[in-house]
Amino acid sequence: MLWLGLGPDAWAADEHATPPAVKKPVAKKEPSADVEATSSSNPKEVGNQLREALGTQVAPNKKLTIVSASKGTSKVVAGEGTPPPAHNTVRLTPRPPRPAPKPATPVSAPEHSADAHGGEVHWSYEGENGPQNWGKLKPEFNLCALGKRQSPINIDDTTTLQGPAEPIAFNYTGSNGTVVNNGHTIQVDVQGENSIMVRGVRFNLLQFHFHSPSEEQVNGTRAPMVAHLVHKSDEGQLAVVGIPLEAGNANPLIEKVWTSMPLDAGDKVRMPRGMLNLNELLPGDQRYYQFIGSLTTPPCTEGVLWMVMKQPVQIGRDQLRMFRQLYPNNARPVQAVNNRPVREAK
Ligand SMILES: [Zn+2]
Repeated sequence: MLWLGLGPDAWAADEHATPPAVKKPVAKKEPSADVEATSSSNPKEVGNQLREALGTQVAPNKKLTIVSASKGTSKVVAGEGTPPPAHNTVRLTPRPPRPAPKPATPVSAPEHSADAHGGEVHWSYEGENGPQNWGKLKPEFNLCALGKRQSPINIDDTTTLQGPAEPIAFNYTGSNGTVVNNGHTIQVDVQGENSIMVRGVRFNLLQFHFHSPSEEQVNGTRAPMVAHLVHKSDEGQLAVVGIPLEAGNANPLIEKVWTSMPLDAGDKVRMPRGMLNLNELLPGDQRYYQFIGSLTTPPCTEGVLWMVMKQPVQIGRDQLRMFRQLYPNNARPVQAVNNRPVREAK
């Protein structure tokens, strides 16, 4: 079965759906973690702050005893290195002021890794937060490391299942778009009547975005760029149409999107009303490869229906260059196919 129970919240954490994570100082998840008690006069609030400081080690219904050595202090010291007993005792002691906590690498405690952008952990395409470590950044990202149906993949056409396949019925119309620079890619959030029909299901277009080079490989080769058109059915299943982009003639849709492209991460620009028409990005030959995969960004959710167009669409060299100046490499490496069937529509 392909159905996913993805609600709106799940989508919010989805491929490029959120603004960029900005590195912020985070407290380490240790029993000795110090917290600032901003309103120590309210025992309930202090309790909540302590629970947060202790992370998962204190169940919400666990009783906390607070021993105050000096009333009126705003510093709370919890635990001090020993595993908390079933009945947690926390001492409130006066402490000298200390410098602000140093920035630390994100840790696996969601309550400490949250930032101003809705709790997204800072992940990236290189370095210690790069694709090899996505699965370790946050428990919710486990599938990035453990999933067996991850994307992207290398499509080897000596092993694809070649045969008849239904055409994708594209129903795209003039729409409104907002171009978002989310720190991982340029994404266009789409408002309008846009859907595809495939496998008897209607999927509505939510957004599209770009990767350079293309994430999908065909016979070991990547295209210079790819557009991912992300759709969702009423039942919550995701369907992504991948359109390889190669250097050639300028593309009118890219021209409009790039004109509204915000250059700063976290910025967004609304396109003129009705200007967006995704038909301008579709190849003439709409045969495709089809397989089940995942989101190619954390949380790497599986059960995504992928349809990768075989014929690339041309975009101008200047158009290609402009995107690459902002995002020279925002492609996840290919993942193990694990005997997944790949259909190749003839
Ligand atoms: Zn993508």
